[in-house]
Amino acid sequence: MVIVIMDGAADRGVRALNNATPLHHARHENIDGICTLGMCGLMYTIAPGVAPGSDTAHLAILGYNPYENYCGRGPYEALGAGFDLKPGDIAFRANLATIERGKIVDRRAGRISTEEARELLKDHKTVEIDGVEFIIEHTVEHRAVVVIRDHGLCSAISDTDPHRVGVPPNRAIPFVGTKDCERTALLVNKYTAYMMDALRRSPINRERKKRGLPPANAVLLRGAGAYKPVASIKEVFGIRGACISGVALVRGVARALGMRIFMHERITGGKDTDVGFKAELAVKLLENNYDLVLLNIKMTDIYGHDGDFRGKVEAIERIDREIAPLLNHVMDYEHVLALTSDHATPVSVREHTADPVPLLVYAPSCRTDTVKHYSEVSVASGALGVLRGTDLIRVLLDQAGIGEKFGE
Ligand code: ZN
Ligand code: ZN
Repeated sequence: MVIVIMDGAADRGVRALNNATPLHHARHENIDGICTLGMCGLMYTIAPGVAPGSDTAHLAILGYNPYENYCGRGPYEALGAGFDLKPGDIAFRANLATIERGKIVDRRAGRISTEEARELLKDHKTVEIDGVEFIIEHTVEHRAVVVIRDHGLCSAISDTDPHRVGVPPNRAIPFVGTKDCERTALLVNKYTAYMMDALRRSPINRERKKRGLPPANAVLLRGAGAYKPVASIKEVFGIRGACISGVALVRGVARALGMRIFMHERITGGKDTDVGFKAELAVKLLENNYDLVLLNIKMTDIYGHDGDFRGKVEAIERIDREIAPLLNHVMDYEHVLALTSDHATPVSVREHTADPVPLLVYAPSCRTDTVKHYSEVSVASGALGVLRGTDLIRVLLDQAGIGEKFGE
């Protein structure tokens, strides 16, 4: 089985273009070819009216109820960055930022290079605050993850990242009045002060100032979550899973479910990602005894956030061209395929919305319906009807002939 996620590809359409959506507008003959042989429908990845994050949506699509299993953005980001989390670890997403006279002037420290950021943080990788270990793991450019490791910590605290400039970093505030929560917030505030002091004195920052670049002199934290292990996809559904994605958050969700992660420099998670390479890799993994391959293509979501209709259309057309070998392989070797989005990111909204996403399921012996074009509106008349995200994995297992019968 292979699930191809065109991240945020679903849309609402643009009034000025006769309500055409990028999926409707784009030419995607290869996708339409398999669409003609498969069955279509709409899917609420979480629930009607709920705008999904990529993390909760991927959990649901992989068969896990996000309301029971989601542990916050930080832990998935950390797992996706290759960090080995232990149960109870509190993880945050972190930004290197620039502070001047106590106020944030750049939340990305001038998009400091990966090399410089790594060098800057190397002496502060683990820091002890009141006997509690803080670990910072750099990812790319100004981004990092921070993990706190101790007994009795609590993730119900506010971000120190105010998400805007011209103000000082926020103090972490406990959301609940327990001792654990108050202690965690206090530790985080001490860590923020410690890092500001340590980074201010770093030779790398002195160097940057000389070159007229903003110093990376603060670490802003957001998305706190406590890592809570869940039963693996092997334990729950009896399948071996693999994930191909350039996005740390998506990789983290897959890793939390015990899926194998495949990374490569050509898989970037950006507009420059090599879709053809990913498709080729998916074929290899299908032939290497993986029961389920999740292939995430992020760029459609980025064009959605940019509000770039033309760019989104071109991205869809490029995906259609470059995944053609994968679609052909699925048909030639009798695999099961789902093609969908994790949520809509309409170019008119530039954010995720709760609109249902189009879904195409192909299997060698599946029903066919009358849908011949893959778009938000045309799939609504398909044979699958309306599903929820958590239904999808069972639909695929059933199509693959390895689903479980309920009753006798
Ligand atoms: Zn997404
Ligand atoms: Zn998005």
